Amino acid sequence: MENSSFDTLFLDRDGVINKKLEGRYVRNWQEFEFMPQALIAIKILSQLFNRIIIITNQQGISKGIMSENDLIILHQTMIENIQQVGGKIDKIYFCPHLEKSKCNCRKPKTGMIENAIKDFPEIRIKKSYLIGDSPSDIVAGKTMGLNTIKVDNIFTLYNWTEQIIAH
Ligand SMILES: [Mg+2]
Repeated sequence: MENSSFDTLFLDRDGVINKKLEGRYVRNWQEFEFMPQALIAIKILSQLFNRIIIITNQQGISKGIMSENDLIILHQTMIENIQQVGGKIDKIYFCPHLEKSKCNCRKPKTGMIENAIKDFPEIRIKKSYLIGDSPSDIVAGKTMGLNTIKVDNIFTLYNWTEQIIAH
């Protein structure tokens, strides 16, 4: 994959990998539901990209709706389900802070992406993509110079995957 045109894939979580819940947070595995065909998309993308990194705002932690440990357990189960279909996630970065906290990590800020670049200095920005469903994802991706793609319930991660493998 040395000459691959796809290096690193940054994925937002809620609304990209799993369905968002109306007006509340996904607190545990019982409340977690993959988006349609997201698992097969991640399997395909795992073969295409050198690494897949999730960057997710989770201010429910600072609101006391779930603990950091709840989130870590949820993510372990999510990763196991992805691995069972042959996909992989290299690392998950989450921001537990409140919107009003003025941290550097909550998207649209770029702290999580910058931390990923520190941890994986081989990341090639120009060959890397960020996929998100919120304006804050799009701002964060564009600020970092990533190829930035907006998805939603109509044009999903799977639809984008189909599009890039067709080319
Ligand atoms: Mg989202």
